[in-house]
Amino acid sequence: MQQTIRYGSEEIHYQVTFLTRKTSKIVIHIHPDGRVQVDAPEDADLQQIKQAVLKRARWLSLNLFRIREARSEVLPRQYISGESHFYLGKRYPLKIVALANNHPPTVKLLRGQLHVATADRSSEKVRQLLKDWYASHARQVFHRRLNALVPSVLWLNGESLTIKLLTMKKQWGSCSPQGHILLNPHLIKAPTECIDYVIIHELCHLKEHNHSPEFYRLLSLQMPGWKQIKIKLDGMAELLLNY
Ligand SMILES: [Zn+2]
Repeated sequence: MQQTIRYGSEEIHYQVTFLTRKTSKIVIHIHPDGRVQVDAPEDADLQQIKQAVLKRARWLSLNLFRIREARSEVLPRQYISGESHFYLGKRYPLKIVALANNHPPTVKLLRGQLHVATADRSSEKVRQLLKDWYASHARQVFHRRLNALVPSVLWLNGESLTIKLLTMKKQWGSCSPQGHILLNPHLIKAPTECIDYVIIHELCHLKEHNHSPEFYRLLSLQMPGWKQIKIKLDGMAELLLNY
């Protein structure tokens, strides 16, 4: 049964479950999605339960706040100051600075913040400025990493390789047999080792076009620690592709 307490200006809702087994305790749980469940002995009354919940109100409020914070990261982006954005695996708070109308907008990393200076501070404009900034950095960094990795790749013999950016919903990269590598610009938000892993994965496809055992043998040969890196990248995918 759904109940509510007030804590300051906040309403905290909780679900009461009466347990038939012999228990004398009222126990409060917070589920990972932020639902509050209160288990109570069957002879407890709602007023008693409410008192127990009120006693823990501060603790509940704090934990529910933390859960909301963590979950807000996968909610749609608002492009406002203070919002976290990622670059090369690090989290930077966004800082939006107002410019006079005749000044061209700029985006840069400044004192640990992702600084966007613009006359038009609408979320649509900020989103576009960040998108362009990410794309230009992605182009530079992906080429640099490709050039650094190619000399160590055993099966390459001076083929000409090209990188193009393509925004994809669920994929980090792809590779054609002709050596055209497509990389998702959102990958620039991941740590460098994850970028290297995706590039090497695609380079393995130049030799093995599918995910055969031979493909994975090549991948392990070229990057022995790839599994851990893939787990890390998969874990960040929802966060990094949420734009
Ligand atoms: Zn693949």
